[in-house]
Amino acid sequence: MSYDVNNIFARILRQEIPCNKVFEDDKVLAFHDVHPKAPIHILIIPKGAYINFHDFHQHAEPETIIHLYKKVADIAEQFNLQQSGYRLITNCGVDGGQEVPHYHIHLVGGDKLGTAVGK
Ligand code: 5GP
Repeated sequence: MSYDVNNIFARILRQEIPCNKVFEDDKVLAFHDVHPKAPIHILIIPKGAYINFHDFHQHAEPETIIHLYKKVADIAEQFNLQQSGYRLITNCGVDGGQEVPHYHIHLVGGDKLGTAVGK
C-alpha cells in the first residue's frame, strides 16, 4: 500500500482544509478531532508521509519517532491531563479500524473513559 497524498490529513497539512490547531512545529501537527469522543480528543500527526503506526516505526528516523512521542506528552500537559490521566489510541490498518491513512495518535481525556480494547 502506498501513501495516499490526498487523504484528509495530508490535505490538512497542506492547509487545503482547516483544522482547529493546538500545536505545530516543523515535524508535528496536533488538532482537535472533528467528531470528539470525549471532552478532549486531539489528533497528533507527524508531518512526514507515513500511513500508520507500522509504516512510521519501520521508516521514520529514530529522532523523528522520539520527537513525536515527546510532543504527545507535552500536549497532554498543555491540556492538564497528566494528573487525571488520558488514553492514547492508534488504529492501524483495516483490522485496526483505521479510517484516515496518515499516521495519527488519538489523545483522549477529560473524563473517565470506558473500556477500549476488543470488538
Ligand atoms: P481513525 O479511525 O483513522 O483512527 O480516526 C480518524 C479520526 O479522524 C476520526 O476520529 C475522525 O473523527 C477524524 N477526522 C476525520 N476527518 C477529519 C477532519 O476533516 N478534521 C478533523 N479534525 N478530524 C477528522
